Formats: sequence, structure tokens, C-alpha cells
Amino acid sequence: MFPLIGYNKPAYRIYQYLWIGLDWLYPPRCAGCDTPGSRWCQRCENRTQVISYSVCTICGREVSEPGLCVHCAKRPLNFTYLRSWANFEGPVRSAIHRLKYRNDISLGETFSRPLIRLIDYFKINFDLVVPVPLAKKRLQERGYNQASLLAYPISLAFDSKFSSQALIKIKETSTQVGLSLNQRLENVRNAFEAKVFLVENKKVLLVDDVCTSGATLDECAKTLKQVGASEVSALTLARANFEMEKSN
Ligand SMILES: [Zn+2]
Ligand SMILES: [Zn+2]
Repeated sequence: MFPLIGYNKPAYRIYQYLWIGLDWLYPPRCAGCDTPGSRWCQRCENRTQVISYSVCTICGREVSEPGLCVHCAKRPLNFTYLRSWANFEGPVRSAIHRLKYRNDISLGETFSRPLIRLIDYFKINFDLVVPVPLAKKRLQERGYNQASLLAYPISLAFDSKFSSQALIKIKETSTQVGLSLNQRLENVRNAFEAKVFLVENKKVLLVDDVCTSGATLDECAKTLKQVGASEVSALTLARANFEMEKSN
């Protein structure tokens, strides 16, 4: 279980204690292994493949030398930083599945904590937190957006604005699984719409649960910048393996 975060923001403390109170009423089970007792156990924490801090300045892929990875040197992206906490496998994969499909909404608070630490470590600057949106139909089916659950506590911890309306998804897209990078970029093209009055001159932090090729985040960042966002950074809980070379 991640330690509580001692940021001095009252709203954030209250939010954390609210969830701790709910844990007391409804004892949680570990999101990674289903052991009763906590939302995330030490054993799963130890098994998590946390991504090292030696990463490409832009996309956050692990690199051996500081600077840009080969892909970002070739193809500029629309966000300034993309950082992810862990590889999308083992207990982290189970936890995200649970957050997404099993209504285990307390996990948003749990897993916002490693994201808050990443922001601190990389000194990511923002004044508006925006979750990567779901299309309307998907949101209605699920009842909530898992990215919002991760993003909202971040806004409280840093005393910044949160908006789930600044960016909306206007096109149903088919699954990105099995698509090449170019097909992925095509699939999400013009899928989002951003609101000028919420976004203009803002430094936006985009939040999502998983990133694979980064195509969705890049399209979101592009859309935000088109309506005047001054800068866009992105954070995801996990990063799934994606072979850039093979898929081009
Ligand atoms: Zn566990
Ligand atoms: Zn890169």
C-alpha cells in the first residue's frame, strides 16, 4: 500500500480520509491479487515493474542515455512530457482491469498516489487537469470514466483546476488492439473536441490509465493545443509494450 501523501492541501487530505473511512466500512481486497486487507498489498507492490526514471524527455520510454529516444527524434509529439508509473502487466494489469470494469472506484485514489509522486519528481508544471475522455456511449455503459478517478485527486493534491468537459470524445473509435502506429493515428484522428474557454492559455495535464503507442494522448494534446492550450503534458498509470519499428 502506498503511504499517505502529506501534501498540505486540505481538500486532498479530506479526500484521502474519505476513502479510508469507506475502507473501514467496506473492507477492501487487493486490486492485484484479491487478498483481503488493503486496496493494494505490499506483495503486489513488490511485483510491480516500475518504470525507471531514465526515460526519453518527451515520450517517457526507457532510454540508456539521457535525451530523446529514436522515435521522438524522428516524429515530434504534441505533448511536452509523457510519464507512466509501471509496465502494464502482472498485478498492475489486474488492478487496471478492476478499476475499469468492476466498479472498484476507490482505486482511483489509491493509484493517483504514484502519479502524484511522478509529478513531483519530474516537476511537471500544469494548472488544469483533464482526463482522457470516453465516448458518450462507453461512458453511459460504464457509468464512470476511470481516467477521471485518477485525475481528480491529482487536481486536489496540487490545488489546480479539474475539468472533464474541457476535452470530449466526439467519435466512437474501434479498438486499437492489433493496429499499427499509422492505423492507430488514423483511428483516433479528429475523435476529440476541446473547449476554448476552458483550455485557452492553460498548461494542461492529461491523465489516462494506460498508454500503448501514445497515439490517443498525442491526438488529445493536438486538439487541446489547437484551441490554445499553452502546453500539454501527459501521465498514465501504466504503459503497455508497443513495438514501434515493427508496426510502422
Ligand atoms: Zn496484492
Ligand atoms: Zn521518446
